[in-house]
Amino acid sequence: MPELPEVTTICRSLDRQLRGQVITAAASSGRLRVDVDSVHLQRFCAGKCISAVTRRAKYLLVVFTDHSGLILHLGMTGYFVITPDDQQTLPYERAHFLLADGRRWRFCDIRCFGSLQLCHEDIQSCTHPTLVNLGLEPLTKAFNGSSMHRLSRNSRTPVKTWLMDQRNVVGVGNIYANEALFRAGIHPATPARRLGLQRCRQLAAAVKTVLQEAIAAGGTTISDYRDVDGSEGHFSTALEVYGRAGEPCPRCGATIERLLQGGRAAFFCPRCQPRR
Ligand SMILES: [Zn+2]
Repeated sequence: MPELPEVTTICRSLDRQLRGQVITAAASSGRLRVDVDSVHLQRFCAGKCISAVTRRAKYLLVVFTDHSGLILHLGMTGYFVITPDDQQTLPYERAHFLLADGRRWRFCDIRCFGSLQLCHEDIQSCTHPTLVNLGLEPLTKAFNGSSMHRLSRNSRTPVKTWLMDQRNVVGVGNIYANEALFRAGIHPATPARRLGLQRCRQLAAAVKTVLQEAIAAGGTTISDYRDVDGSEGHFSTALEVYGRAGEPCPRCGATIERLLQGGRAAFFCPRCQPRR
């Protein structure tokens, strides 16, 4: 599932390709998890000019010049393809937009967990129900050791689960939560409220570094994540613990272990991340 670095990479590509473009027609198959029918989509989009493509959490916001917009989520397997319009529908194409310059922007999704929503109001003021309860953006100043410490005081939840809860901090999924905890030397099962201010600072800093490095590498391709042009992310080679159970820890050589937490796998080094 794409996390913040992958969505950021795709967001930048879409912004480069779509900014200033006018949508002439749009259609949807109605097969996405949250979808809008073709008639409404066409009525909403036709004639609108895209002023920017931005991101909030793992949602892509297509902002129109009238400040309304589209809220897109890639789900597990969503991806975009932009080509000259050949009037052909691709195998997993769930929605498409025709652009005034003759290109066709396709929203494809194999498993259909993606979503496509209309936002009639000002999309960047975050009043849409989908956007209103989201937590802190991890790369902003608002997310730091103090805010993490404050927000986690009453939480018995294991810290890795806490990090992945979008109501606390957004965009950190399983891959980057595991990597950040390794870098901060924190065991994934530690209850969030047991972390002192100092360890919250270390963890918040680790989250930011891991995400920034992953963005610089174009994200992490595990199975089917691709940028708009089809290229893969290169952060997979930099992963230190994720998916490496049984392998030696890159820091101390101890064997990396795997633990199931609420159905998600935690990977950690028992020596670098001791349970306190
Ligand atoms: Zn180690």
